[in-house]
Amino acid sequence: MTVIFPFIKRGGDHIEAPLDPNEPDPLLETMSLIKGETGDWEIVLGLEVHAQVISEAKLFSGAPTTFGADPNTQVSLVDAAMPGMLPVINERCVEQAVRTGLGLNAKINLRSVFDRKNYFYADLPQGYQISQFKDPIVGEGAVEIDLEGGGTKTIGVERLHLEQDAGKSLHDQHPSQTYVDLNRSGVALMEIVSRPDMRNADEAAAYLTKLRSIVRYLGTCDGNMDEGSMRCDVNVSVRKPGDPLGTRCEIKNVNSIRFVKQAIEYEARRQVEVIEGGGKIVQETRQFEPAKGETRSSRSKEDAHDYRYFPDPDLLPLILTQEFVDGIKATLPELPDARKARFIKEYGLTPYDAGVLVLEKETAAFFDSVAKGRNAKEAVKLVTGDFFAMLNRRGLSIAESPITAEHLGKLLDLQADSTISGRIAKDLFVIMEETGKDPAVLVEERGLKQVTDTGAIEAAIKEIVAANPKQVEAYKAKPTMMGWFVGQVMKSTGGKANPKIVNDLLKKALDS
Ligand code: MN
Repeated sequence: MTVIFPFIKRGGDHIEAPLDPNEPDPLLETMSLIKGETGDWEIVLGLEVHAQVISEAKLFSGAPTTFGADPNTQVSLVDAAMPGMLPVINERCVEQAVRTGLGLNAKINLRSVFDRKNYFYADLPQGYQISQFKDPIVGEGAVEIDLEGGGTKTIGVERLHLEQDAGKSLHDQHPSQTYVDLNRSGVALMEIVSRPDMRNADEAAAYLTKLRSIVRYLGTCDGNMDEGSMRCDVNVSVRKPGDPLGTRCEIKNVNSIRFVKQAIEYEARRQVEVIEGGGKIVQETRQFEPAKGETRSSRSKEDAHDYRYFPDPDLLPLILTQEFVDGIKATLPELPDARKARFIKEYGLTPYDAGVLVLEKETAAFFDSVAKGRNAKEAVKLVTGDFFAMLNRRGLSIAESPITAEHLGKLLDLQADSTISGRIAKDLFVIMEETGKDPAVLVEERGLKQVTDTGAIEAAIKEIVAANPKQVEAYKAKPTMMGWFVGQVMKSTGGKANPKIVNDLLKKALDS
């Protein structure tokens, strides 16, 4: 049962400007070592990613999870923490967490425990969050990232646990009050905690990108950071190379990959300046302010929460069978790493091209069906060249493309069997983009077939040679004039003459 809640108001006098992830990118230089006055400093980064589970219902209630619904229309009595309500685990969410764990090459814990994490906040009606503390559902795993300029690096995953999301405080609806929307309250999150294995902002960005790619392939999280379904807490510390780990600060809830990079660059430099200025880094929570590109302190360790974790007495330990886990394993799709390896082996792609093509599952599937059974080099050139350029120019996703994979493949076939010339293929691509039609049909309709009939080409050559005696003289002195004649023949045949035949016949005619 879903009840509709009125906005809950609480006092407050601050209005926060909404974040705009689309604002222009300031020139951002990322680096691994920061040059300080006392020498080089190394940046150490660990990420905690909250990924919203794709499921129809919430983690412990049957309320729906649709994004963008009117405030407080998706709130059950459990989510609103009405007295006497009891949580009931949603099996689908458990399955999704296990699926994600398997996709991260991680250990699945057959026994895990839900704990209460106690804190007070207006958007947390229970007064605690149900989370997992000592015994998470997923243990250690690994994510491989592609480094700039080639090579890969393995980033350790420490754990993945299931927990409830909180509601949302809306500070921008009223000049002096804050409203609360509980739609998100109780939605299932996977918190994925990495090891402090990253050394610069680019690696952090690559890790996030890869993680998003994996959960999208798996269908366990949509990865839409702008809708809040993937949020990132960044742990930043600095040290002299070879030294033990420095004191870290945690930047909370950064909601775009670009902001993650900016936040890291700013925070690492700030820490170096503090230490070199004779100060100490205090362990604290910080907030990234996109408008300024800065982080600011929001909570120091002195007033940090003691969450008083304890096992939730309303929930039994979660016990999984190995058969349940194996059953999920059997349904895993081909994941980005495996697909990349296959693209390199099967199609002879460079690691770079393969990496670009597998990042989004839709792109990978599209390329697969264009390249299958055809010249892979030509397919890569067409897909990553004219095709991607067309999508960018029109601002379309691959699913919205007016040219299907089947049609793009046919275009390659028409060139491969010499039905059309390369020049006509370029024109045909534009017509396909405008009409969405099958290229084979367009070739028939518009008479674009390549002319390989030597008689027709010879006739055209004869006419041009007869009409241009001066150029023929010039050719005798300067054989590079040949190009001009080829151009004339192509022009008179509407670009449809087979270039090789034109060259052969022209040479014969001019040299005789
Ligand atoms: Mn969390």
